[in-house]
Amino acid sequence: MLNTDDTIAALATAPGEAGLAVVRVSGPRALPVADAVFRGRAPLAAAATHTLHHGWAVEPGSERLDEVVAAVFRAPHSYTREDVVEVSCHGGRIAAARVLAALRRAGARAAGPGEFTLRAFLNGRLDLAQAEAVADVVRAETQAAHALALGQLAGGLSRAVASLGARLEDALAEVEARVDFAEDVGGVETPPHVVAAIAGAARDMEGLLAGAAWARAVREGVRAVIVGRPNVGKSSLFNALLGEERAIVSDEPGTTRDRVSEAVELAGVRVTLSDTAGLREGAGAVEAIGVARAREALESAPLAIWVVDASAPLDAADRWIAARLAGRRAVVALNKRDLPAVTGEVEVRAVLPGDAAVAACVGVSAARGEGLGALRDALVAALGGAAGAGGVARGDLAAAVSNPRHAEAMTRALEALGRAAAAARGGEPGELVALELREALGALGEITGRTVGEDLLERIFARFCVGK
Ligand code: GDP
Repeated sequence: MLNTDDTIAALATAPGEAGLAVVRVSGPRALPVADAVFRGRAPLAAAATHTLHHGWAVEPGSERLDEVVAAVFRAPHSYTREDVVEVSCHGGRIAAARVLAALRRAGARAAGPGEFTLRAFLNGRLDLAQAEAVADVVRAETQAAHALALGQLAGGLSRAVASLGARLEDALAEVEARVDFAEDVGGVETPPHVVAAIAGAARDMEGLLAGAAWARAVREGVRAVIVGRPNVGKSSLFNALLGEERAIVSDEPGTTRDRVSEAVELAGVRVTLSDTAGLREGAGAVEAIGVARAREALESAPLAIWVVDASAPLDAADRWIAARLAGRRAVVALNKRDLPAVTGEVEVRAVLPGDAAVAACVGVSAARGEGLGALRDALVAALGGAAGAGGVARGDLAAAVSNPRHAEAMTRALEALGRAAAAARGGEPGELVALELREALGALGEITGRTVGEDLLERIFARFCVGK
């Protein structure tokens, strides 16, 4: 796939009934290949760049396939920096598929997933972080996710990474110069201003990584599972958060036998809420299936909402659930606050395991729709976002590290900087400091694709859709 000598073609729009469908051709033979299929006033090979041409797509045997408009982009002024022809056909299942088949018979190869964007990267039009942002733009399910991806496509993260890299390169150059000319500049110790520069870059990386969990939640959405013993109001809360009747509400314990999932948007994050059967021991056979699924949901979801009936004392079933929150991130909803209070935050915290990450206990009345704003804020805060009106401002996401691959590489860079600073402060030889700085630069380079292997590229582009 890293070969860019041949000419590729693919449908760039989603297949199915639509006004238009676009077939894209890119590569050194894009114009002659398109000309084998296109009949207009003049051959596309003679066309200037950025021009549109009305005509017909035909089989080589001259059967008309569709009435089309061909757009010509000549290298290097195209998405891939190669010659590109985009053929706009009528939408629907047949027209574009036949045009694409004709283009392939004329010599184009079927493009792999993301291959147009891969070529744009290989030809230097985008760096790797920007290329990955293209897939994020297409996948975004909230406006915030879209804005985040567009910021990265525009180079927000790339610029932050490049400037960190430039600072580290300066530091490295100074360290290496001292090593090379040790006698001239008096020893191999790292001077304080270089140590300060390394520490400064590390602080900025920490700042970028601090927002990474939230940015990832914005990018990918998160799953949150609602747990609690039967009849505490889980289904009622699920419905209240969704703003409509979805789950079955009943006075009879154990009515919600299966998981019901719906997505809501909280401060730009798509949160998929799952209502679960009441988690409890000793349930009947049918209900036991629901309980098993609820446990599975609790174990796999990154965030739990534990619903407690605040109008009743905590019982053994509550304590059994509390124990299951060990090591988990959770928010507690003290429900039925419209009734006289029996159980409060103190009692709840007393039964929670020490390592449960419970950010907040919020009083709510699912039945009356009270306290839901505070609960939503608590959920946003638990996900690492700023609670309150509007959630996170767009500006905060400009250089956000939303992609876990980028966060992992930046964490490695930060660790290397920590070792570099420690070595420098400890008076270790400059070679050691230089080694760690190079390691940090290598890790940063993986984000923008300056240092990246073929297999990693293949893995990254495999998650693209064909035609992008
Ligand atoms: P689940 O079994 O935990 O899903 O609980 P449900 O949502 O089915 O609710 C169980 C019962 O509690 C129903 O009769 C609800 O009307 C009632 N309920 C739920 N939330 C509240 C609340 O905030 N206040 C009061 N007073 N009753 C509630």
